[in-house]
Amino acid sequence: MARTYDSNNIFARILRGEIPCKKVMETEHALAFHDINPQAPTHILVIPKGAYVDMDDFTARATEAEIAGLFRAVGEVARQAGAAEPGYRILSNCGPDANQEVPHLHIHVFAGRHLGRMLN
Ligand code: IMP
Repeated sequence: MARTYDSNNIFARILRGEIPCKKVMETEHALAFHDINPQAPTHILVIPKGAYVDMDDFTARATEAEIAGLFRAVGEVARQAGAAEPGYRILSNCGPDANQEVPHLHIHVFAGRHLGRMLN
C-alpha cells in the first residue's frame, strides 16, 4: 500500500521556498542541495519537484520526463562536484525498514573520500 504524501514535509517546504537550502542545481524536474548533516565531504540530496513519497511511489506514478529529469540531475550534480572520477555513491532510503526520515523522495550523492563497501 503506497504511503500518503505529506505536503508539509521539510523537502516540500524547501521546494516552496518556505525554508532555505544550500542549492547546488535546479532543473525543470529536480532540485539539488547540500545535506544539512553531511556524511561525506560531498553529500548532496537530489529531489524531484513532484510530490512523491519515495522510490516506490516515484517509479509507480512519475512520468518518463520526471524520471529522466531526476536521474539526469543526479549525474550532472556528481559531474559538477568533480566526483565522476574517482567515484561516488548514490543511495535512496525507501520506507521504515530503510530508516527513511524525510517522506519526499531524495537521492543521496556521497563523494570526496573513499566510501568503503557500504554506508549505513
Ligand atoms: P533519509 O534518512 O534518507 O530520509 O535522509 C534524510 C536526510 O535529509 C538526512 O541526511 C538529513 O541530514 C537531511 N536533511 C534533513 N533536513 C534537512 C534540511 O533542512 N536541509 C538539508 N538536508 C536535510
